[in-house]
Amino acid sequence: MPEPPDPRIMDGTGLAEAVRAAAGEQASGFRGLTGRPPCLAAVLVGDDPGSVTYVKMKQRRSATAGIDSQLAQLSVSATTDQVVAAVSDLSADPGVDGILVQHPVPKHVDERAVFEAIDPAKDVDGVTMHSLAAMALGQPGFHSATPGGILRLLDHYRVELAGRHAVVVGRSPILGKPMGLLLLGRDATVTFCHSKTVDLAEIISTASVVVAAVGRPRFIRGDWLRPGAIVVDAGYNPGNIGDVAFEEALPRVGLITPVPGGVGPVTISVLLEQTVSAAFARAGLQQLAATAS
Ligand code: NAP
Repeated sequence: MPEPPDPRIMDGTGLAEAVRAAAGEQASGFRGLTGRPPCLAAVLVGDDPGSVTYVKMKQRRSATAGIDSQLAQLSVSATTDQVVAAVSDLSADPGVDGILVQHPVPKHVDERAVFEAIDPAKDVDGVTMHSLAAMALGQPGFHSATPGGILRLLDHYRVELAGRHAVVVGRSPILGKPMGLLLLGRDATVTFCHSKTVDLAEIISTASVVVAAVGRPRFIRGDWLRPGAIVVDAGYNPGNIGDVAFEEALPRVGLITPVPGGVGPVTISVLLEQTVSAAFARAGLQQLAATAS
């Protein structure tokens, strides 16, 4: 007999399936109303194997939800101006509903300039300053896909956030910062930690909720965690290894996300869901049904 699932492990794959299926129903409704499917365009600069794999995976998942894909692929030597021009073309293309710039772009490309070339109405990955400001101010807008997915997971598992101390380890513009803003928007008491933070383990030991967004394998140790803590591991390091030492952490936590199968799949489903929302909004149409929770 298969072992029953561990109730401490948050199942990102299952939630991702539900969100993707709901997005698929909406996409089908959109197609019925407008005669075309929603379309998500990806911009890929260079041929980093990891990035190529991510983009292909997103295209496959888009297809299963009835969302069309476009790909603008630029060479690794493309200049900032060239990448900005490609993104601007997609922003102006009426057949494109959502734009995803695969992160990271090569170091010589100004990623912020590239992100800002995305029409905010198509910013389904939530990377523009417009989206970040909306998240900071609690206004409607697209969530950064990974933090948005993490919030979905926490909601799905009915994690109470109001009044709780949430520690976000990492402050990148696509992950740590927007994560902290979304948690603050839910009335958590938020601490941001980063590479200059002193006494990280001690700070983490005071957290009810920990989000690891560092990019260092097994960096957060089990004995740093407060017993019963809710732990979200957004890290995705080579070899499918998270930022949290999972085996050490599991006996102490209330809930934890696995890597793989935690944050990653939900991120992609949120991206698809936001693409469908963008398509409806751009067409001036109301969405058809409530989305999955
Ligand atoms: P990033 O831009 O490299 O940011 C890493 C953050 O970690 C920075 O804020 C950095 O601090 C902080 N940091 C580095 N060393 C530290 C230390 N010793 N102590 C405390 N903080 C430290 O990375 P990212 O793009 O946010 O990604 C983080 C991880 O999430 C990676 O593993 C990435 O693969 C993964 N990720 C997953 C998804 C998903 O969908 N699952 C999406 C995006 C990213 P400073 O700011 O001081 O440098």
